[in-house]
Amino acid sequence: RPAKLPELEGNNEVAALVRALNGMLARLEESWETQTRFLADASHELRTPVTAILGHVSYLLRRTPLTEQQRESLEIVRREGERMKKLVGDLLELSKTGGTWRVELSPVHLHTLLAEIAEEYGQSFPQGGRIQLEVPEDLWVLGDVERLHQVFANMVSNAQKAQASEIRLVARDLQERVVIRVEDNGEGIPPEHLPHLFERFYRVDKARDRERGGSGLGLSIVKAIVEAHGGSVWVESEVGRGSVFSVSLRRAEKQLPTLV
Ligand code: ADP
Repeated sequence: RPAKLPELEGNNEVAALVRALNGMLARLEESWETQTRFLADASHELRTPVTAILGHVSYLLRRTPLTEQQRESLEIVRREGERMKKLVGDLLELSKTGGTWRVELSPVHLHTLLAEIAEEYGQSFPQGGRIQLEVPEDLWVLGDVERLHQVFANMVSNAQKAQASEIRLVARDLQERVVIRVEDNGEGIPPEHLPHLFERFYRVDKARDRERGGSGLGLSIVKAIVEAHGGSVWVESEVGRGSVFSVSLRRAEKQLPTLV
């Protein structure tokens, strides 16, 4: 967001213009804040009914004798409810990025972080899929461990949704910075979509991606988190070969042991 311009002395036209511009900026700022607050409140309020719906549906599915058709209907209600829950959760996350996204930066041990993700997602990998780790043991980045977990979990889950059978998590030490790559051999992304991938609600194939349970918000959240770290994120991809999502972060010195 643009910063206010320094006010000028006197009554000349330039000074007046600066004042007018600053007035406009202040109003923009205000409307931005209103919008962000609305998004946060709305998504927060939506969570309660969604949770209630899901609770009752799973009760009905577990406890009541149902015809095949009734069961099918309830399964659909459940699936759509789950989708709504994810969407609402993503919206809530996203509303936090509206200027107030805060990350607590401290040295994060990359190997530990990425090994955790490999373990979590390796278990749920559709048959035969593997997650490989290529991360030096003594590499630390400056980050917020919870948020970074979210970033890489999102990328790995996207790769799995794209039918990858192999995912590699690779980290390279570039002295000042570290680049972490999430490489997959999934279906890849057509070039015309690449510039839009990190936009809110952007999906490559609406019908297919809806079916896979996506909200189209995942990567915009990833981008907001990475940028809050002062980092950057980008993608390279080739249809039929796979995709590589890269994140660049500041390198941290190894955490010193706490002195007692
Ligand atoms: P969602 O939250 O719906 O998963 P994202 O913002 O994470 O949405 O991703 C946007 C779109 O980018 C997805 O709908 C998917 O089509 C595409 N995409 C993301 N990652 C990959 C990948 N590794 N391989 C192929 N397509 C991908």
